Amino acid sequence: MNEIIKLSRSTVEKYLSCPRCCVLDKKYKIKPPSLPFTLNIAVDNLCKNEFDYYRKIQEPHPLFIEYSIDAVPFKHKDLELWRSNFKGIRYKSIEHNYDFGGAVDDIWQKKNGDLIIVDVKATSRNNFDWSDTFSKYEYAKAYKRQLEMYQWLFKKNGFQVAKEAYLLYFNGKKNEEFFNNQLNFDVHLLKLDCSTSWVENKIIDTVNLLRSDVFPKPSLNCEYCNYLKKRWQLSIT
Ligand code: SF4
Repeated sequence: MNEIIKLSRSTVEKYLSCPRCCVLDKKYKIKPPSLPFTLNIAVDNLCKNEFDYYRKIQEPHPLFIEYSIDAVPFKHKDLELWRSNFKGIRYKSIEHNYDFGGAVDDIWQKKNGDLIIVDVKATSRNNFDWSDTFSKYEYAKAYKRQLEMYQWLFKKNGFQVAKEAYLLYFNGKKNEEFFNNQLNFDVHLLKLDCSTSWVENKIIDTVNLLRSDVFPKPSLNCEYCNYLKKRWQLSIT
């Protein structure tokens, strides 16, 4: 029997965007350089605290009223576990011998019991146009896949899950006249019509790749690999 493979939704996302990066990360513990998103983490935390207030009193957050969402923040004993990066919500497949998980930002519950999966994002753009961003950029499509993977996890854990999921976007206003040690945000609540039909197959494909000896080629348009290639070429001339 093969050893169990523990993987997260970001491993599957890496498999989808560049299988080589997925292998480098999971098998060789080599990751592309990245910066810590400390401001995003601060926004996530503040938002979590605010939603937790409404969770405690089981009342809709004012945004739900503004956007006509008939729900309240979901109360559950495992919520902190599901939100934890080290644990998250998980599903173990006996058949394919994997343990898949992800850490969710928030969950709301509709009157009929369906869970709404929510992810919080922070950015700072002059013109916030989600449709345009979604049509042009792969990272926006990855945000949708992220929600779909969480939806799948909740379904596998026996919950009823709504088809719609939300991105709660905080857009930092950078053109205010005075700073006054305050960063103000516009809030955009984006409803996404999701499908989990692809998720299981892609988890299995990722697991199969990680169990194989295949070392996929780098993606041609990846800025990291191109940077390394050019540096290497320069150093040997
Ligand atoms: S092409 Fe980019 S994403 Fe793929 S292995 Fe290289 S650095 Fe990673």
